[in-house]
Parts: sequence; structure tokens; C-alpha cells
Amino acid sequence: MSTHTVNATQAHSESMFDAVLARLDVAAKLMNLSDEVLQVLKNPSKQVKVSLPIMMDNGKIQVFEGYRTVHSTHLGPSKGGIRYAMDVNADEVMALAAWMSFKCAVANLPYGGAKGGIKCDPRTMSVGELERLSRAYAVSMKDVFGVNRDIPAPDMGTSGREMAWILDEFNKINGEDSPGVITGKPIAIGGSLGRDAATGRGVMVNALAALKKMGLLPTEVTAVVQGFGNVGSHAARLLSEKGIKIVGIGDHTASFYNEKGIDIKEALEYAAKNNRVLKGFTGATEIKHEDLLISKCDVLVPAALQNVITEENAGKIQAKLIVEGANGPTTPEADPILNDKKIICVPDILANSGGVTVSYFEWVQNKAGYYWTEEEVNTRHDLKMEIAFEAVWHNASSFKTGMRIAAYITALQKIEQGVKLKGAY
Ligand code: GLU
Repeated sequence: MSTHTVNATQAHSESMFDAVLARLDVAAKLMNLSDEVLQVLKNPSKQVKVSLPIMMDNGKIQVFEGYRTVHSTHLGPSKGGIRYAMDVNADEVMALAAWMSFKCAVANLPYGGAKGGIKCDPRTMSVGELERLSRAYAVSMKDVFGVNRDIPAPDMGTSGREMAWILDEFNKINGEDSPGVITGKPIAIGGSLGRDAATGRGVMVNALAALKKMGLLPTEVTAVVQGFGNVGSHAARLLSEKGIKIVGIGDHTASFYNEKGIDIKEALEYAAKNNRVLKGFTGATEIKHEDLLISKCDVLVPAALQNVITEENAGKIQAKLIVEGANGPTTPEADPILNDKKIICVPDILANSGGVTVSYFEWVQNKAGYYWTEEEVNTRHDLKMEIAFEAVWHNASSFKTGMRIAAYITALQKIEQGVKLKGAY
């Protein structure tokens, strides 16, 4: 498989949206995407920024910034998570919204893309403060969200708890229950079985599909997983259940390595009892955070933050396969380095699309008012992921490019039809 590289000068890793544009340009050129469609996709269709004054527990008002960007609606209503993190800003939300458009198209879901976020540090806030903030955000976005308009979901720093508050506020405003306006909800109020583990499950299905193409058996490879939150912990568990030896794990509190393999069940039990963090885990040797990604392994799963594989460390990565559980973990400057090293990289817009795929199933179940078994959800998920993987693999070989650009091409082939068929004013 030969590779096409992104010109490093085209993208500055400080701007995540530039990182999207850099890849978009390469894919567009390779597939001969019309300039008109490219222009449409380079400009998100709606950007909303709000100020959220919240009464904090200390009796003082603090004002938070909230965002929602709808990137596209050509293939259906826009879909994408809401993150609570300190680095949330307009540029980041715009990049994440565009990635959602491409992710939904790659997974063949009838959705456009969106993303939202609030600049805050949820770890330092009380449950009451987070509830008031989530409800205020829902009120401010009441005209943006809608079952057939824009459907949010969890992302970094949020979970079913926040989705329940946002749903409740939306329902109060509208005077009716519309569970399909948000996904990733707790099961009791219309969530889907399998949604919680879905992103990690998608990482596992993509990793197995790639290993098969590489002629490697799961039982003969090792993996390192960075991140032990919703995505990383499920990915590590599911990969180890498939016989892959997990030799490295880490979260924001500590990183660990054990060449003999880490007992993931033990790590999960430890984190469950330890405020959901790994610090203090004794089933492996603690290593420096920066050594985790470059430690010896066959499969590397960055499932924590963006921009962690950079031009500084890409050359030192030892894995043969990278499966991106996080959104945007690799900078455009690192892409050519990985390509030169012949490392296969299953990109975020394919590798982590399991989450939004089961969000789609949740929305379908909410619309039908009929709920599936976990087995039905998982079987349909795995099939959709395998089809998406094959489509991207096929485009990688027919366009003679790496999987990242092939995934963009796969998405653009679908979105282009939507843009052209729906037309313009
Ligand atoms: N936040 C997740 C993502 O980045 C899920 C989005 C969704 O389910 O709508 O893919």
C-alpha cells in the first residue's frame, strides 16, 4: 500500500480544524472532489456560542462558555457528542463536528455531523453545579437540538448522567417526552443496551479486522491502550477477551507496563474502587506517561486525548498497527512519519465510530418505541463496523493511499452525493 502524505506546512497542530482541512484537501484531490462540494464542507453550517451563568455552591455566579457546531446535514440530522473539558473552544468544536460528519458517513449512518462542548473542568465541580450547568446548556440549545434536527450524545467528560439532565430539560421546554433527541442515555430512560461499551467494541472489531488483513492472530499480538475511561477501558477489556495480551495501559493519573500482560479485569476492579483512576495500581510497573505510546507492542490504541501522536514521538512508535479510539490523536505532521514506517493506522473516523453507530440504534429504538436485546445490538454493530472497515480498506488499495485518507474518501463519496442531490439555493 503506497501512501500520500499531508504537507506539514498546510496544517498547524495548534488548530484542530486546520488538521481536518489538511486531510480533507489531500482526500479531495485524490478522489477529484468538486471544488463546490469542498467549499461546502470547509464551512460548518451553523456555529452557536452561548454564555452560561451558573450559581456555584459557594453562592457566587460563574459564567461558562458553551458551544454547538453543526458541520453538515446533507445525509440527515446532525449527530455528535457534547464534551466538558477545559480546552473546549470554537476551533476544537468545529473540527470535532466535521469529524462527526465524516464518521457518520463512513459508518453509513443517515446523519450529518455536529459537536458541542462546555469549557469547564468537571472533575472540580460538584454534582449540583454540573446539573445546573447541563440544564442551562440544554435551555440555551433548545432551538438547535431536535429528534430530527440535531441529536447530541456523550463525549469526553460527560456520560448518561448529563444526557438524562439535558433530556429532562428539553422535555420540560417542549411539554412532551422525546427520548430520541439525545443518545447515550441511561437504559431506564430509553438508552440502548450495548451503548456504553460500543466505542470500545468498535475499536476491538476494527483491530481484529486489521490484524486479519495483516495475517496476524489476536493470540500472537500484544497491545497498549492509552486512556482508561469509557473508550479505553472497554477497548482493553474486549481486546483481552479476544486473546490479545494487553501489556500497557494508562490514564491521566498514571501509566503502566508489564511485558507478561496486565490482568484487565483486575485493573477495571481497581479503577472502580479507586475513583475511576489507575494511580496506585500494582498489577504492572508504573512508567512515565510519555513512554506509554512508544513502548514495545504490536497494536497501539490511543483512546484518551487529541494530538498525542506527533512529529516528536511518531518516529519512536514500535507498534505495527494503530487503532484510534480517541478523536484526533494523530497530528497531520505525524501522518507521513507513520506512513514511512509502514504502520497501518485505522483512523478515528472509522475506529471510534462504534459509539455513534449504537447511538443510531438507540435513536431508531426510541423512534420505534421497541427495544432490542444486547445481542441484537452487538451483532448489528459488528456487521456495520466490518462493512465500514472493508469499504475503507478497499478505497485504500484502489486510491493507493493510507487508511486515514481512504476513510475521508469513503465519507466524501457519500457526502458528495448528499450535497449534489439536495442542491443549493
Ligand atoms: N462522542 C462520540 C463520538 O465522538 C459519540 C457521538 C454520538 O454518539 O453521537 O463519536
